This record gives sequence, C-alpha cells and structure tokens, in this order.
Amino acid sequence: MSEYETVHFHKGKAIDAKKSENSFEVITEKGEKFHSKKLIIATGIVDEIPDLKGFKESWGISLIHCPYCHGYEYKGKKTGIIANGDKAVHISSLVKNLTEDVTILTQGKANFTDEQLEKLKRNNIQIIETEISELKHDNGIVESIIFSDQTEIKFEAVYGAFPFHQHSDIPKNLGCEFTEFGHIKTDQFQKTNIPGIFVCGDNSSMMRSVSNAVMTGNVAGAMVNMELVTDCF
Ligand SMILES: Cc1cc2nc3c(=O)[nH]c(=O)nc-3n(C[C@H](O)[C@H](O)[C@H](O)COP(=O)(O)OP(=O)(O)OC[C@H]3O[C@@H](n4cnc5c(N)ncnc54)[C@H](O)[C@@H]3O)c2cc1C
Repeated sequence: MSEYETVHFHKGKAIDAKKSENSFEVITEKGEKFHSKKLIIATGIVDEIPDLKGFKESWGISLIHCPYCHGYEYKGKKTGIIANGDKAVHISSLVKNLTEDVTILTQGKANFTDEQLEKLKRNNIQIIETEISELKHDNGIVESIIFSDQTEIKFEAVYGAFPFHQHSDIPKNLGCEFTEFGHIKTDQFQKTNIPGIFVCGDNSSMMRSVSNAVMTGNVAGAMVNMELVTDCF
C-alpha cells in the first residue's frame, strides 16, 4: 500500500491514448479509461535478441549489452562482441580497456573501413565472420560459442549489440517525434514535441541505466508538477 493517498498503482497494459485540447485519455486492454491533464510515458524498450539457442537464457547474465553495466564484472575475461561496422568498433574500444582478449563476431561479412581494420589489428582484436548457431552456457554463464561450421570457441563473456524497438506504440500514435536511433525526442526537461507529454527512462535515452531512468523520471515528475501548478496560477 502506498504511503501517499494520492499515488495509485494500477496493473494493466495501456493499449491506446488520445489527446484532446487539455487532457489525455489512456485506455487499457481491459477497456478501462484513465484521464489526466499531463502524461508521462515510461514504457522502456525491447531488445530484439536473436532467436538462437542459449541467447535468451544468457541475456543479462553473461550475454550482455553494455560495458558500463557489466564490464567490471567481466574484466580480464575472454570476450566476444556480436556486432559489425561502427558499432563493433565502438564497443571494442570500450571493452579493450577492460580485457586484452577481444574477438568481434560479425555474423556474416565484416563491414569495416581500412582505417577501422588497422585499428582493430593494432589492438589485437580478431574478427570472425562465420554465423553463430548456439551459445553454450551453464545457467546463463557462457562457456563457448558454436558456429554454423561446427567450430566451437570458448568465451567467458559475450556482448550483443542488438536492435531494439519501443515497448509501446502509444508515443508514436500520439505524434511524438523520434531520434534517428529510435528514441523519443525530448528536451532537457523530458518534454516531447507534444504539449503535455513527457517521457523518461530507456524510451528516450541512449544511457540505459537505472540511475538515468530514475533521474529522468525525477525531472519529468518535477516538470509535470510545475506545469500543473503554473497552468492554474
Ligand atoms: C540485460 C540488461 C542488463 C542491465 N543491467 C543493468 C545494470 O546492471 N545497471 C543498470 O543501471 N542498468 C542496467 N540495465 C538497464 C536498465 O535495466 C534500464 O536502463 C532500466 O530498466 C530502464 O528503466 P525504464 O523504466 O525506462 O524501462 P523498463 O525497466 O523497461 O520499464 C518499462 C516498464 O513499462 C512497462 N510497459 C511497457 N509498455 C507498457 C504499456 N503499454 N502499458 C503498461 N506498461 C507498459 C514494461 O512492462 C516495463 O515494466 C540493463 C538492461 C538490460 C537489458
């Protein structure tokens, strides 16, 4: 039970939202309707994890997405990076700071410029182009990667730079603008381009972390309060 009488948690999936001149209506899949003057959307994102054996079971344990979240724990480990092109180079530069043993797994033809190849070579980073068919693990702890040609290579950690999509279509349907990377556009006060709609957390930031979600939620909450009180002052 909430300590604050004015705060209510409601379990349910929001499937639609409509904006009228001065208010919003949010509709859940059970058909319930909620009305508000402002809307904060904190719906997160969904990682598109490849449908390969061992991937889902290891996600967030030893198949990881971010050196800032997990890098220290996998310091000095034999590490694979499932990525290609600029993204692979970017993650490699961060991971190389934590471990000497880095291999890029491009899952098909490698796509690097000569300059990038020179950098990867200088940093002793191997590239494997063969498709992955399985991540062998023990309770999510990676042991090896098996490739489509049946070769098997031991790894202790694997980074995966997978695409993502927004968890909810509501921001798009309400007319929110998006960045080229697929995040909802916001100003420094978490305001979107649609008056009255604020966003926070992963749906609107490249800095995927709990502390960032809390911080942006804090800003969105404060700004909504400020607008509500100043609107009727
Ligand atoms: C594998 C992995 C490991 C991570 N490790 C770390 C870590 O070690 N440290 C760290 O700081 N961060 C870590 N992160 C990042 C962190 O989890 C996120 O940054 C954080 O959870 C973002 O919070 P959020 O509230 O924006 O989104 P989410 O946590 O995704 O929450 C969004 C919520 O909205 C709900 N929702 C979505 N659509 C609807 C709808 N239509 N109606 C109702 N509800 C809806 C979802 O069900 C979900 O509960 C990790 C992320 C991943 C994927």
